[in-house]
Amino acid sequence: MQAIAVPAFRDNYIWLAPLNSEGREVAVVDPGDARAVTEVLEARALKLRAILITHHHYDHVDGVHALRERYAPALFVPHGSPLPQPHHEVEEGDEITLVETRFTVLETPGHTPDHVVYLAGGALFSGDTLFTGGCGRLFGGSAEQLYRSLEKLRRLPGESRIYCAHEYTLGNLRFAREVEPGNEALRRRLAEAEARRRQGLPTVPSTLALERDTNPFLRCHLPEVQATAERFSGRSLTSPEAVFAVLRYWKDTFS
Ligand SMILES: [Zn+2]
Repeated sequence: MQAIAVPAFRDNYIWLAPLNSEGREVAVVDPGDARAVTEVLEARALKLRAILITHHHYDHVDGVHALRERYAPALFVPHGSPLPQPHHEVEEGDEITLVETRFTVLETPGHTPDHVVYLAGGALFSGDTLFTGGCGRLFGGSAEQLYRSLEKLRRLPGESRIYCAHEYTLGNLRFAREVEPGNEALRRRLAEAEARRRQGLPTVPSTLALERDTNPFLRCHLPEVQATAERFSGRSLTSPEAVFAVLRYWKDTFS
């Protein structure tokens, strides 16, 4: 599946996922801005059939009301999310068939306690859980939860395309370089991402294979990542979860 990017706010991507081979019927993932979505729907003569929400932050849901008023799509939200009815609540393992496309729901708490991601046709709509080159901050969930969620995503097929909700790649990869200065794949990826951003091009989607090779938050089990995290924290770290918690804290203070 090839999703269409709708840039919004400063650095958000709202994704339009095609639901049939012709591509005229779409679902929108995390519409924080109804006007940006409507412009693309109208310009391309697309029919909005569904809204998929990964979590309840305003920049992912603020366009829901206006889009429902205008197009009456079905609304899918994570179980327990504070979003207005009527909607369908989704949880781990749910399968949603929209037109000709089946989406699988995975629960990925950590960024928020209610976060889910949607998988369809080799595309992973990862919201604010897995970013290109990084991962979401902790806003209500724990480091342990987010670590487990990312481990779940790390085991998906390498060719999975990562459609995350922000253009954060450069900042993420600059942090990654601090963690793994000797990682050659990372060095190449950063140079390519810098070239793309200089031309105003998106760096999303990436692939899970590339994330596994270059995203430090998926590499906490590796001795070199552990060693850097130990140097930063000044103590020995006895598990990948502990390495992850240090990296997450370090990234929050990195500029
Ligand atoms: Zn968020």
